Amino acid sequence: MAKGIKENRIIFLMIYSDLVNIDNLFCIFVFMDFSSKLLELAVDQISQLPGIGKRTALRLVLHLLKQPKEQTEGIVSALSLFRSKIIFCSECHNIADTKICEICANPRRTYEQICIVEDIRDVMAIENTGQFQGKYHVLNGIISPIDGIGPQDLTITSLVEKVKLGKVKEVIFALSATMEGDTTIFYINKQLTAFDVLISTIARGIPVGDELEYADEVTLGRSILKRIPYEDSI
Ligand SMILES: [Zn+2]
Repeated sequence: MAKGIKENRIIFLMIYSDLVNIDNLFCIFVFMDFSSKLLELAVDQISQLPGIGKRTALRLVLHLLKQPKEQTEGIVSALSLFRSKIIFCSECHNIADTKICEICANPRRTYEQICIVEDIRDVMAIENTGQFQGKYHVLNGIISPIDGIGPQDLTITSLVEKVKLGKVKEVIFALSATMEGDTTIFYINKQLTAFDVLISTIARGIPVGDELEYADEVTLGRSILKRIPYEDSI
């Protein structure tokens, strides 16, 4: 008898350990309580999006239900149009409406400097600074073996071809300061060593407005090693 209780506890703990994610736990109850197959289908589809669990998906679907029907139709139509008509710039691989994006087509932007970024969000962030007048090369991801993303899944070959033409003088890496970002930089750097091109990375250090005591050791250590003259910092 005592042995049976013990075994039951172990089984319960094993099940519980699989359900420690509260969202997953909730979704079991939601799944069981669905009163409509249409509602279940809508929740299932939305919960496939990154960062959205079943609970959030249900909240969004119920929100749409309270709004005018036209709003849902507008969202569906915009997403469908985006997915079917979107174009990737043939030069930098950024998302665009035309074969060559506005940045690549701008004659005032120099092709001698190319900034390597992961995706369009980084292009937008750097463009907002107004400090870069070169062109971009969007990798459409970074090397991440755990996610099954290898060099062949990125636009590295087209970058090498671009550098091979000899017009690019500097390649600037603006990738995340993560293991995946560093791996990607290391890999691409090796592909470019044969060419006469300056290779640089964006500076890594203490963000403006942050207090020193809250910086992690790696960031603070790099900031000290890569210190700059005071005149350049103002
Ligand atoms: Zn472009």
